[in-house]
Order: sequence, then structure tokens, then C-alpha cells
Amino acid sequence: MRISTRLTASYALILLLMTVLALYSVNISMDFLQERAGNDTVSLAVVMMKTIRDRIRTTSDHLRAYSRGASVRSALRESNSRLDLLANPEEVVLRRDSEWTSAPEEEMSPLMQEVIESECSTDLRDKFIHFFEDTYGYRIFEEALISDRYGADVCQTGRTTRYYQANEDWWRQARNDGFHLGDIEYDPSSQTYGLPISVRIEDTDGTFLGVAKGFVSLLAIVKAVEISEKRYESTDIRLISGSGRLLYATRAFVFLEDMSGQELFSKTKGESGFFMAEEGGRKRLFSYTRSKDSTDPEQSEWILVLRHDLNEVLGSVVTLRNRMILASAFLLSAAILISALIGRSIRRPLAGLGKAAREVAGGNLNTKVEVTSVDEIGMLAITFNEMTKRLEQLYSKLEEEVIERKTAQSELEALNEELARINEELVHSNKELEDFAYIASHDLREPLRGIRNFSFFLLEDYSDKLDAEGQSKLQTLIRLSKRMEDFIEALLTYSRVGRCELSLKETDLNKVLDHVVDSLGASVAETGASIRIERPLPVVRCDQVRIEQVFNNLIANAIKYNDKPRRWVEVGYIGQEEGIVFYVRDNGIGIKEKHLQAIFKIFKRLHGRDEFGGGAGAGLTIVKKIVEGHGGKIRLESDYGEGTTFYFTLQGDDPPKRKVE
Ligand code: ADP
Repeated sequence: MRISTRLTASYALILLLMTVLALYSVNISMDFLQERAGNDTVSLAVVMMKTIRDRIRTTSDHLRAYSRGASVRSALRESNSRLDLLANPEEVVLRRDSEWTSAPEEEMSPLMQEVIESECSTDLRDKFIHFFEDTYGYRIFEEALISDRYGADVCQTGRTTRYYQANEDWWRQARNDGFHLGDIEYDPSSQTYGLPISVRIEDTDGTFLGVAKGFVSLLAIVKAVEISEKRYESTDIRLISGSGRLLYATRAFVFLEDMSGQELFSKTKGESGFFMAEEGGRKRLFSYTRSKDSTDPEQSEWILVLRHDLNEVLGSVVTLRNRMILASAFLLSAAILISALIGRSIRRPLAGLGKAAREVAGGNLNTKVEVTSVDEIGMLAITFNEMTKRLEQLYSKLEEEVIERKTAQSELEALNEELARINEELVHSNKELEDFAYIASHDLREPLRGIRNFSFFLLEDYSDKLDAEGQSKLQTLIRLSKRMEDFIEALLTYSRVGRCELSLKETDLNKVLDHVVDSLGASVAETGASIRIERPLPVVRCDQVRIEQVFNNLIANAIKYNDKPRRWVEVGYIGQEEGIVFYVRDNGIGIKEKHLQAIFKIFKRLHGRDEFGGGAGAGLTIVKKIVEGHGGKIRLESDYGEGTTFYFTLQGDDPPKRKVE
């Protein structure tokens, strides 16, 4: 995933989480506020209900107080006493009532005019209708009437009811109980919903004078309550009877509509409470309270239901939530934009670095990247440039070293060539030397032999003519020429070894050794030396004559350079993985450490000329040449005074550097 995508995703995720958290807390606070608002509105409903009840009570008190007034009482006394005089007052009242009810609606009968326009009625209108209208701007009482104890209307605010009242329940209840509060009813004459309140009117001595009735406008009461208590614009008030009949609503409604089957009614079973419900396509908060005023004789049970627009109640929180969603959306887009920009600012230099790294990998060490910032990426770019610089330095150093090595190698090669040439020259000159030594010794041998022979003849034939000194000088000449002859013979033998090709073939060394022992028979007999052959020698590929020379020389020396009374020579071999190592060991005089190499030089002797039987000092030189001619090596170990062991191989391996027991 690209860096910018990752950045954007992580920013978006963080913001999303924050938004979810914020919305979650808003929702929690909404729930909390809903609870609070619910409880608040319930209190409101309770207060409203109480106020409604109180107002109704106040109006009935008002009616009662008025009824006790002297003018009302005298008017009633007068009416009662007038009827008392009649033989059949009920009949008269009923007659008048039928006259009242039969009058056409638009006309006023004389009886009506008499009652409605009486002084008492005028006062009643003033006190119950006009007073409230003038004071509050609306009516509290829609109508009021006072009837005497026969039920005949004495004063009336208008021609709204019948003339005769005594056959009505409310009238009788007011007369008997002193008070009657009727159910809410629709009054067609005032076209309003209201409550009939009736009170008994008594004389000062308690005699029944009549009944006063007022029709209190529920609309007015609710409106007054609404004005004084309403808290929210959207609040809608409904009054429902305990049995579920809609008694009143602040909006258009159907009077006594049966609501008992509705969800709204079923949710108002408690004493008071609140709930949420959809109505009119919107979520609303409903709060309600039930009231059954036990002091009311009527015992009417009402449910006051308040409906609020939830958005209004939780207005600030809803606004907060909406703003938060808007802010989150804005922040989210800003975060995506910012992270895309940051991602781009990171990706670009990184891409540059990647490209440069690929170029370096491809061998272009001169690559540099642009340092565009002073942050970690900038540091990376600086380090990258330093790295390529260092690489470049290292590379050029390496190149220099390679050149140096090449030069050294070619110098070495030249040196090797030179060495090979010198070696060749050496071989050539060696060969020439050998040739020369051969020719010289070969050619010198004859005249030298002649000199010796003639010196010998001279000594023999002319001894009588020579004095003792002459004879001694001639003897010295013979000895020296013999010695010279020996040297020349040795030189000839030595140069012959180099000149002739080796005749290699499988050779039984036991036979070779038998031959050597035979040839040394005289010296063995003379010295009493014993020659021990530890185990039969193997058959090896070699030049038989030369190898015989090697064994002969080594065994002869072992016998010769020995001063022990019981001389012995031991011949054997060690079978090594690398090859066979032969040895010749003696218990002779031994050789000092410092002479171990010198004895292989030609004509080198460690003793006086005639000591240990004399010798030319070329024997070991010839032995070494034969061994090396076979591709082998020779070396020796010696304990001075104790004995010497010569080891040699024929296949190029060094003889082991340990004593053979
Ligand atoms: P030569 O025996 O004719 O003197 P060599 O080349 O055979 O010549 O020997 C060289 C010298 O090495 C001898 O003079 C002798 O001093 C010494 N040498 C050779 N073999 C032995 C040996 N087995 N023990 C002690 N010394 C030895």
C-alpha cells in the first residue's frame, strides 16, 4: 500500500473513531437530556393539570361568592315569594319554559326579554362575561344563570339555556350537595367546550334560595394555563377523560373521540410519565399526568397529555450533533487532503532515493540525490550522498589496488620468465660444465696415467741412478698422479651420472643388495663388520646399476667411517603412504650437526687425506645426484660418535624426519 494511502487511511480512521466517540457522547447526552426533558415536561404537565384544576376551583369560588351577594339573594327571594303565592307554581314554570323553548331562534319572547334584560341579568353579564373579557381579553364564563328554588331562571347572561332547570341532575345535585361540577361538554350556543359549575344559593338563615350555574370555557382556562406555563413553542395540550375520551385539544379535534384503543392512551396508564412516539411523521416527546381530585365531588378523572417536538426540546443538542457531523465531514476531507499532500511530500523524495539506489546498484556510483528538506528524509538523502561518495572513493582505491596488483603480477611473470631463462641457462651451463668435466677428466685420464706409468718405470728402471731424494720425489709424483687420477675418475663418474639417461625397470632390490654385499666382501672381512638386512627389500622401478652404486657407497661409508670394535650396518625401508623410504644405518663415528649438508659437496671430506682409508670425497655427491635423478630426496641424521642414518626415497618425497628404530 502506498505511504499516502496508508497515511490517509490512518488519519481517516482516527477521525472516524473520534467522530464516532463524539457522536456517541452526543447520543449519550441526548439520552440524558431526553430523560431530563421528559421529567421536565412531566412536571410541566403536573403543574398545568394543577393550574387547570385550581382555575376551575377559583371560578366556582367566584360563582359562589357572587351568589352570596345581596342583590342575587333579594332577586331570588322576590322570585320565590312570587311563585310561592301561586297555587301551582311548577305548572306555571313549565308553561313558561315551553314558551321559552318554542320561541324562534332569532326572536326574543317577552319572557326572554324580561329575564335577560332584568337588572340581575345585566349585573350577571357584567360580572361574569364582560369583566373577564375586559380584564383578560377572553371569556372565562361563556354563560351564567341563576334559577330560583322552583328551577325558574331569574337572571341569565343570554338566551342560551332553557327557562326551567329543576328537572336537571346538576340542578338537583347542586341543591342537595351545594356544588356540582359537570363533565366537559360542548356548548353549541357558545360553540365552545366547557365545564358546567353549579352552586347552591342559600339565604342567610340557610334556606334554599336557588342554584347558580356558570359554564366555564375550558378553552379559556387551558389557554390561560398555556400562556402562563407553556415552555416550548411546539407544546400541544390534550385532555383525555379517564375512560379515554378526548375532552379537549389545543388543535382541531373531535369531541369525545374514543382514544382508548390508541397507543397514546395505552401509554398513559401510570400516574404520570413520558414516552417517545411518532406522530405526524415526526418523533415527539409525550408527557402526561392523571388527575383525580378527591376533593371534587364530581370525581372526574382527567389525563393531561402534552406533546412536544423532540427537536425543539433537544434543540441545542441536535444542533450540536448536526454541527459535529458537519465538522467531522469537513475534518475528514481536510485530513484526507492533508495526508495526501504529506504522503506526496514523503513519496517524491523516497522515489528519488529509490531511483538513485537502483542506479548505484547498476554501477553508477556518481549518482547524487537532491536534498529537498531538513527532516529525516533530508537526512537520509544526505547520508545517501555521503554513502555514494564513500563508495566512489573505495571503488577508485580498489581500482588503484587492482592496477597495482596487475603490475605486480606482470612483474612477477617477467621475473619468472627471467628465472626460467636463467634456469635454462644454468641447465645449459651445467650441461656444458658436465660435458667439460667429462671431456676434461676423460681426456686427462690417459696422459695422467701415462705420467704415473712413466714415473713408475723411471723409478724401477733408474733407481740405481737416482739418489734417495730423487727416488722420494718420483714416489711423490706417482702418489700425486694416482690421487689426481682418483679425482678425475670420481669426476668422470659424477659427470657420467648426469650425461646418461636412467634405465628404469622393475628391480628386485634384494638382488641389488646381494651384489653390493658381495663386492664389499673384502672390506667386510677386513673390518669384521656385519651387514643386517631387516626384511626383504621391495621390487621398485629404478636404474639398477645406479641404485647399486647408491647402496654400495652408503654401505661402504658405513663400514669405513666406523671405529667401533663391532661394526654393523643396517639396511631397511619404511613403507609410507607417500612412498617407500630406504635407510642405511651404522654405529660409526657420526657426523657433527654443522657438517650434515657439507658432506654432499663434491670432494668434501671431513677427515685427513689418508684417514679412514682415504677417498676422493665424491661418493655422497654422486649418491645424491642418482637419488634426485630418480625423482627422490636424500637426508641424514647423525649422533656424533654414535652413528649415522641415511634416508632416501626414489619418488620425490622427503624422507621422514624421524629416526627409524
Ligand atoms: P669419501 O668417502 O670418498 O671421502 P664421501 O663423499 O663418500 O667421500 O664422503 C664424504 C665424507 O663424509 C667422508 O670423507 C666422511 O668424512 C663423511 N662420511 C661419509 N659417510 C659417513 C659415515 N657413514 N659416517 C661418518 N662419516 C661419513
